[in-house]
Amino acid sequence: MIKTGRTRFFVGVCGFLLIAALVLALGGCGGTPGESGPGASPPAGDGAVAPEQTPTPTPTPTTVPSLTPTPEPAQESAPLVEYDGVVEHLFFHTAIAYPELAFDGDSQEAGFDEWMVTVDEYVKILQNLYEKDYILVNMNDVWSEYTDESGAQRMKRNTLMLPEGKKPLILSYDDISYYEYMLPHGFPYKLIIGYDGEIYSYGLDPEGNEVFSQELDAVPILDKFVEEHPDFSLGGVKGCIALTGYNGILGYRTQTDKDDASPEFEARRQQEIVFAKPVVEKLKETGWYFASHTWGHVRLDSMSPNGVKADAQRWLDEVGALIGPTKLLIYPHGSRLDGDDVTKTGESFRYYHGLGFRVFASVGIESFSKIKTDISAVICDRMHADGATLRRSRERYLKFYDAADVFDSSRPDLGKDW
Ligand SMILES: [Zn+2]
Repeated sequence: MIKTGRTRFFVGVCGFLLIAALVLALGGCGGTPGESGPGASPPAGDGAVAPEQTPTPTPTPTTVPSLTPTPEPAQESAPLVEYDGVVEHLFFHTAIAYPELAFDGDSQEAGFDEWMVTVDEYVKILQNLYEKDYILVNMNDVWSEYTDESGAQRMKRNTLMLPEGKKPLILSYDDISYYEYMLPHGFPYKLIIGYDGEIYSYGLDPEGNEVFSQELDAVPILDKFVEEHPDFSLGGVKGCIALTGYNGILGYRTQTDKDDASPEFEARRQQEIVFAKPVVEKLKETGWYFASHTWGHVRLDSMSPNGVKADAQRWLDEVGALIGPTKLLIYPHGSRLDGDDVTKTGESFRYYHGLGFRVFASVGIESFSKIKTDISAVICDRMHADGATLRRSRERYLKFYDAADVFDSSRPDLGKDW
């Protein structure tokens, strides 16, 4: 089982009540319909963050698969050796906490099946990665900027120093926004800080009971996993959280709404910002780091340069202002700036570069990376740990895990290649 003891859990719940009370005082601020983002988001309105009734201290035991039974000591004595090979990169979305809600036969089921893993699958994937001797590294540490002989700034690949036998792995997590359209479908509602100072997820179980947990969300699950397996992380590094802005961040509705300039809306937004900031800080303290995923989850391959600039500015104002500087841009839909950043450096790419972005990540069939020679930037691809590859790319992902061992039987019967 995860190491979280019951006593600790109850202590945490007491703290949540204070936080939840504050949230409730805002009168269901999360239910405010924001501007709907592009893509898969239907109109908001059913996503009230706080239920009407006063929360009661009844922690619901959550069903989670077992992690490694006993914590293993860190291999602190392992000598560090130079590593210049491939740095693997896997990404996830928010994990499905309650598959019975995500896979209920409605119109959203196929999308959740395609893009997400369940909590059960996620825990098994982490265990497999650990057993295959991967070690988490920070994407910011893999490349660095230098000045070449001509005085130009360029990027270079760093030699990593890893414990002998370990293979470097970047984990990134896209859209950790707890989008309003997802909330009724078996996902957590937000990340919060418990009374014990640790990150928990808050949400509702299928019966509508409030649940504060470290076992139902990808972020706290990785926190606990690294706590129990310190040698899974280089220096305590966790993952990269890629944030959009159109539904706020981390479950807090920090976005502006161009259709609602009322003081009431702004007051609620400012209150959400007050709640979000300590969560951001706690994540940073505990090895997480952030990337832009654009404000509106936009298609950067086909958007006009002016559209790209406006979206980027809004992201900086509403998200960058909360998380601080980042040089990481993770392309929504995997769509590359200007349609192609591999063979050309277009106007939109140069604009993002001017904002300080240096690493630009798409999606692909391998952990590809290329250092651009005409500008100080790196482009790379990430592999996607999700239902699509569990069903149809088992072979390619065997270096990480075997889909046959990981696949959650609660998924719908949509076929698979193995
Ligand atoms: Zn995304």
